[in-house]
Amino acid sequence: MMSLEKILWDNKLHVFLIGSGGPFNNEKRVAPCIAIIANGEFILVDIGPGSYRNVDLLRLPVTHLNSIFLTHFHSDHIGDLGEANMMSWVNGRMKPITVHGPEGVDKVVNGFIMAYELDSEYRVAHHGKDFVPPEAGVLISKPIKLKNCNERELCFDRNGLKVFAFEVNHFPIKPAFGYRIEYKGNVIVITGDTIKTDNLVKHCADADILFSEAISYDLLNNLADSARRVKLTRAVKLLTDIQDYHMDPIAAAKLAKEARVKKLVLVHVTPPLLNPKTENLFLKGIDEHFDGEVVLGEDRMKFNLNPKEI
Ligand SMILES: [Zn+2]
Ligand SMILES: [Zn+2]
Repeated sequence: MMSLEKILWDNKLHVFLIGSGGPFNNEKRVAPCIAIIANGEFILVDIGPGSYRNVDLLRLPVTHLNSIFLTHFHSDHIGDLGEANMMSWVNGRMKPITVHGPEGVDKVVNGFIMAYELDSEYRVAHHGKDFVPPEAGVLISKPIKLKNCNERELCFDRNGLKVFAFEVNHFPIKPAFGYRIEYKGNVIVITGDTIKTDNLVKHCADADILFSEAISYDLLNNLADSARRVKLTRAVKLLTDIQDYHMDPIAAAKLAKEARVKKLVLVHVTPPLLNPKTENLFLKGIDEHFDGEVVLGEDRMKFNLNPKEI
């Protein structure tokens, strides 16, 4: 199948919301993943379970995939790392993928390499070294260490595309990062999983698009109440515990306002919203806190930004 090669070279910043969901499986949204394509560069931020399938369905030019940035190592953000490596290699990627992330990324990457080692050997034995060069089909880990936990660190700078990592508060997961991506005057920020902090506001400043995580405390509490009535104590604990290290949509709206962002896209949408009524409840009250454009993220949404600078 033909891939979208032409978007690599059209001078625009292309952003694809690959996975707009959170950790709870549902039919509408897979786990977190965002693709960024500009000037021959193709990177992914997070690669949650089910997301690589959407990369394929969008026909993105995976032979050019060169880096994956992980915000942290909760399973909903890393589950398809092995698939991304294996399938883009089999489809013609001729260079390794660098996996950037907080300290600990070596352990995660080495584990995926080990899990896929036998399959890599099968592919080479079956198709031959020229077709699937073994040295290309690997992941290389690159830990990011911030010199100062309040400052962002430039961790990727190629062909005008820059990626900065900054620390977020997803305690007890530490460190956890958000990423700020810049290309020819446009700014995209991806919060990762976090609560709202002053440091987060600082690094989201003046973004053209802010992809903010959002979980609805109201909807989760409704679910917890129902679970309590039927004595599903494990579900009650999970639905309650997750609220202490995530933002709700109102916090995301306040963040967007304070950081003066132009467009807010809500991602990591939790709990699953399976009808318009729950979507309205999820978004309720946001317009009282942010008067810019708000988008309820959906899988495979596309955003194209024209360059502001030559
Ligand atoms: Zn998550
Ligand atoms: Zn998380």
